Amino acid sequence: MTQAQRIAAGSIVLGLVVLGLKTGAWGVTGSAALFSDAAESLVNVAASVIAFGALRLADKPADANHPYGHAKAEFFAAVIEGVLILVAALVILDHAWTVLRAPAPLHAALLGIVLNIVATVINGVWGALLLRRGRSLRSAALRADGQHLLSDVVTSCGVLAGVVLVVQTGLPWLDPALAAATALYIIFAGLHVMRESVGGLMDEAPAEDIVGSVRRVVGESASGALEAHDLRMRRAGRHMFLEFHLVVPAAMTVADAHDICDRIEAALKAEVPGLLISIHVEPEGKAKHHGVIVL
Ligand code: ZN
Ligand code: ZN
Repeated sequence: MTQAQRIAAGSIVLGLVVLGLKTGAWGVTGSAALFSDAAESLVNVAASVIAFGALRLADKPADANHPYGHAKAEFFAAVIEGVLILVAALVILDHAWTVLRAPAPLHAALLGIVLNIVATVINGVWGALLLRRGRSLRSAALRADGQHLLSDVVTSCGVLAGVVLVVQTGLPWLDPALAAATALYIIFAGLHVMRESVGGLMDEAPAEDIVGSVRRVVGESASGALEAHDLRMRRAGRHMFLEFHLVVPAAMTVADAHDICDRIEAALKAEVPGLLISIHVEPEGKAKHHGVIVL
């Protein structure tokens, strides 16, 4: 197992512990707000299982069927996670409506609150760790998982504060109202997770400063060539692809043109580690003045 896969496996185990604690908190109190928290926790476990599978798939090397590798599997995992979050929000809204029509006082509120606090602390620590490792390992699935857990911590804190308020005021509608607010909050979280991943699935260009520095490096390292054009970049999971056309004097030998390509590729890989580059060499006369990098 790779490091990312081990982390994802750890998420599943911790997710089950948190789910148990939060389900217990709902079970002893009967609170709709604590139900909403437990429902989101169930989504976390499902999402962790999906992220684990996606990471295993994404790490598989390129094969005849998928010559560009399997990195985009991670984006699917993140999109599915977003969908699950939205489904959980609907279930919570439905439950809040049920409780609102027949409100009942909370039972062992203190025990429920303590159980939920323990679960929330676990989520907070693990979520922060996932986000950090997800960034350093450039893993969309781990980052999405970490973001989800941290948004969970925010909702849990709101839910906890609310349950305390419900116990103090004894207002029956406050508990389901809180559950509904939780549902609305996680809808936004789910949409955010999906938006980022859909960008990846749609071959979104990398950030402007990366494209800018790539153009600069091509311009600086291509002496001997006449111009470069049609430069395109896209991201796929942790991979980044670059392609462009390089115009050289028509009489230049293939060997010399290839030397220039090797020089450009070395300079680019020093600037953007892991960049996958493909260069199309053209003779002078084919030069078109569109998106041109003048050398
Ligand atoms: Zn061309
Ligand atoms: Zn070559």
